Amino acid sequence: MSNPEARPDEVVCEGSDAAGVELMTPREVPLGGPRAMSVRRTLPQRQRSLIGAWCFLDHYGPDPVDATGGMRVAPHPHTGLQTVSWLFEGEIEHRDSAGNVAMVRPGEVNLMTGGRGISHSEVSTATTSVLHGAQLWVALPDASRHTDPGFEHYVPEELRGDGWRGRVFLGSLLGDTSPVATFTPLLGAELVLDPGTHLHVPVDPSFELGVLVDLGSVTVGGLDAKVGDLAFIPSGGEELVLRAGDEGCRILVLGGPPFGESIVMWWNFVGRSHEEIVGFRAEWQRQIADEATGGIVADSRRVADGRFGVVPDQPLAPIPAPALPNARLRERR
Ligand code: MN
Repeated sequence: MSNPEARPDEVVCEGSDAAGVELMTPREVPLGGPRAMSVRRTLPQRQRSLIGAWCFLDHYGPDPVDATGGMRVAPHPHTGLQTVSWLFEGEIEHRDSAGNVAMVRPGEVNLMTGGRGISHSEVSTATTSVLHGAQLWVALPDASRHTDPGFEHYVPEELRGDGWRGRVFLGSLLGDTSPVATFTPLLGAELVLDPGTHLHVPVDPSFELGVLVDLGSVTVGGLDAKVGDLAFIPSGGEELVLRAGDEGCRILVLGGPPFGESIVMWWNFVGRSHEEIVGFRAEWQRQIADEATGGIVADSRRVADGRFGVVPDQPLAPIPAPALPNARLRERR
């Protein structure tokens, strides 16, 4: 997904030492257009921008497509991150400049590596009547952030226990391990708890964790979390203690060791400095101007001389970058 904000802030994200559990509440961000769908954003926030390497979390739906128009995100660029798409309902067609065309479906993870640069589009399919899902970004560590673009699709087995079921799409939980490779240790899983279920889930104590509530309510780490909330649990614990509310819950459990690097996020880019972000923006703007005048021709291969490449067979015009903020943020070390 493209960050739809017209005036996105530049966010300097520093790995912070966690004091304790925190309840992070979402803010509504419209995807643009008069009747467009909006998303509930819980990452980044002023007080916390990263959970492990997870640096962006938009949660949306369930939205009736006939009221919102569904998802029509035209080609847009990314750098220095991976995107993770997880759907609860609906279907989205993904196309990227590395030549990947894939359907995002409920219970199936699509992970796109932006690395040094990629562009992609995301459009809900004609058969989709309701859209409901989460779009997540993972920051790449400095040593890996210039890697080649890539794409992986994986369908985890459903796990079942007493009063719960789950799917592990990244990392390891509840005896299952995802084969999807990541550049830092990560956890991503969906859990569904029946009403009143009380579950102690063993976790890696080096991981900080985030629990996003998609349906129902849950008490996690002593916090009462409702739909849209993201509960943060600092590293150090050996188990995640969950108690589902009266209507049960569906949650995403995210985690990883504290990232330990400062990043600069702006619009769809992750970099390490203001200057780098300015450069990425200029390259994207130059590319879409070249495309408009026929200087770059889309084909199934990534264009060799463009950082972001061209999304093949996608008639939607690429999204121009918003204006940069007036104030230059001071770098923090
Ligand atoms: Mn995107």
